Amino acid sequence: MTTESKTTPPANPYSQLRFLKGVGPRRAAELEGAGLSTYEDLLYRFPIRFEDRSQVRLSSEVVSGQVVSLRGAVVSTGLRHTRRRGFSLFEMLARDDAGTFRVVWMNQPFLEGVFTPGQKVSFHGKMEWRQPGGLRLTNPKYEILEAAKESDDEGLHTARIVPIYERIGSLTSKQLRRLVYTALTTLPSEIEEPLPGTVRGRHGLPGRRQALWEAHFPSRETSLQLLNRFRTPAQVRLILEELFLFQIGLCLRGQAGREEPKPHKVVVNDRIRRSARDVLPFRLTLGQKSALKTIVGDLCGSSAMNRLLQGDVGCGKTIVALLAALVTMENDLQVAFMAPTELLAEQHYLSLKSLLKASRFRVGLLTGSGKTKSKRQIVTDIEDGTVSLVVGTHSLVQKGIRFRALGLVVIDEQHRFGVLQRANLRDKGRQPDVLVMTATPIPRTLALTSYGDLDVSLIKDQPPGRVPVMTRVETESRREDVYKSIEGELRNGRQAYIVYPLVDESAKIDLKAATVMARTLAGRFSEYRVGLLHGRMNADEREAVMGGFACGELDVLVATTVIEVGMDVANATVILVEHAERFGLAQLHQLRGRVGRGNRRAYCWLLYKEPLSETGRARLAAVSGTTDGFKIAEHDLRLRGPGEVLGTRQSGLPTLRVANLLRDQDLVETARNEAVAALGADGLDMAILKQLDRNWKERFGLAVVG
Ligand code: ADP
Ligand code: MG
Repeated sequence: MTTESKTTPPANPYSQLRFLKGVGPRRAAELEGAGLSTYEDLLYRFPIRFEDRSQVRLSSEVVSGQVVSLRGAVVSTGLRHTRRRGFSLFEMLARDDAGTFRVVWMNQPFLEGVFTPGQKVSFHGKMEWRQPGGLRLTNPKYEILEAAKESDDEGLHTARIVPIYERIGSLTSKQLRRLVYTALTTLPSEIEEPLPGTVRGRHGLPGRRQALWEAHFPSRETSLQLLNRFRTPAQVRLILEELFLFQIGLCLRGQAGREEPKPHKVVVNDRIRRSARDVLPFRLTLGQKSALKTIVGDLCGSSAMNRLLQGDVGCGKTIVALLAALVTMENDLQVAFMAPTELLAEQHYLSLKSLLKASRFRVGLLTGSGKTKSKRQIVTDIEDGTVSLVVGTHSLVQKGIRFRALGLVVIDEQHRFGVLQRANLRDKGRQPDVLVMTATPIPRTLALTSYGDLDVSLIKDQPPGRVPVMTRVETESRREDVYKSIEGELRNGRQAYIVYPLVDESAKIDLKAATVMARTLAGRFSEYRVGLLHGRMNADEREAVMGGFACGELDVLVATTVIEVGMDVANATVILVEHAERFGLAQLHQLRGRVGRGNRRAYCWLLYKEPLSETGRARLAAVSGTTDGFKIAEHDLRLRGPGEVLGTRQSGLPTLRVANLLRDQDLVETARNEAVAALGADGLDMAILKQLDRNWKERFGLAVVG
């Protein structure tokens, strides 16, 4: 049934892979499982690296220390266990035109099942001189060249710069190479070109079809170094194409919200200014003032605000949001204030309520775990407008909640929320203004990708009188000394956090560890009042503990990472983080941000368990070395990659096929500029729109091709 379709070449790169020669139902399923269903999917999967097999050497001419490519036939193999327990050597004798040579792999006993005498193999690795036995190739990368009937492929797999692919299921690099080759040869000579000629011209980049060929099967003259850095013109072209389309999509989405005027109107007059001054407990910093001015400008504008407010932990974003909320409420509109966790929602609820105490506006709390009856009440209050400001978690975007007149949505994202929820919320009110706040200073590249459709304001300063937190990294064996130092703070009437990592808030063992620890600590700090806070407590229990700590009834708060964001107790001057090596950098920075919120010197102890790896050491040093969240974020990005840092799914980071946000930071900027230029021109090319429609529609919820 499929054989017939296989004889007809596909008309375009979007044909199904199952029609490709060499792909039967089983392979099709494996490819599908890896997310590859069209020719294009396969072709936009770059080789992970390249090997220059045009430079195959003879075994007689290589010497110790060289990294070389050799080719030979397997003569014999054997597995040897050495005296060191659990250590094995897999040895091979191979023959090329110059004679025999030895190849050795350490601790890869499974290779016994891989090689058989007579096979032709290509090796790439380092020659070494080791006793006994003398010269040998150690742990080389290898590829079996001749699997009986595929010998006609020789030209594809050797004597050239060869692409190496990551396996897909049972499909080896070599099999994938063959498939890619076949797919390329069946491409028609004219294919859709989404990267405008002007852009290609400006950057000296090839057309799409040529780029696809060269990104997989580069010509002999191509620099191997450039190839492996993904910087040949062909590779740059494909990366830029992807980032360009993505940026166009982001810009279009941004515009979509802006073109229509918002249905509500916000004005600011003297009465409203006075009302704002009345709730303000302190003088705003310059950074806060200027951010607020921009935000209020947006609120009074005719199209909906879509703004990201960036600022390091403790810089005072909440009060800026509250003043924006106040302006909105004074215009008879409602405000939804969303937090990433229930704990943070509860915190915000308490502090916003107390700040608005003297005002005429009612504040409500809506979270997942509230009691059903009071929940129903609050839902009604939101509907009839009795509640002006409602604080909550994502439950605020759930179905069944209608606002009488939603004017502003504040999202305290704290690096956890995502684009998805944002989109959801926009649909709820009819075009509310949206203010997203983030405490993770997002490096510009990521901001452009993840939040490319938002305007950005930055608060750079901190409230006056802040003293940088002193951070110390210590091994667990120093715990008692650390406790003594904590006692010093407690004796002066200060408060302390002690934080435990919970891999999984629902894991019983972990929870028990924290509970047991709280008990042990209650014994150790017997003169003081010790409380426990974790994510599995119900809202009432949590509120009691948090309230107790906030008003000073508790001296020590033993907690899991639920306190990571939001706890705001100025009298807490010391935080101890146990197993600091298990936390992410941004997380440690956030945790440290729980102290140093007043004008006193505060301390952060990071205890780690030995042995600590090199990277582990470097990570902790990065946190203790600076209190600048921006530097830490960049460091984190380098160490872990953007997906991990922001959490690909939550952050709404795109699943990119060829681009890599870390490797390609420079190209993100270029893509952004080109996208803006393209949008400024007379209209987008049809090829761009089609590509957007094909690959980015779902992401942006855009109907770009009408
Ligand atoms: P974040 O930006 O991390 O959300 P918060 O809004 O929680 O920071 O503010 C941190 C602390 O600083 C809060 O206790 C807040 O009341 C206080 N604060 C904010 N702005 C100022 C200011 N201009 N002067 C003095 N204290 C401030
Ligand atoms: Mg905050």
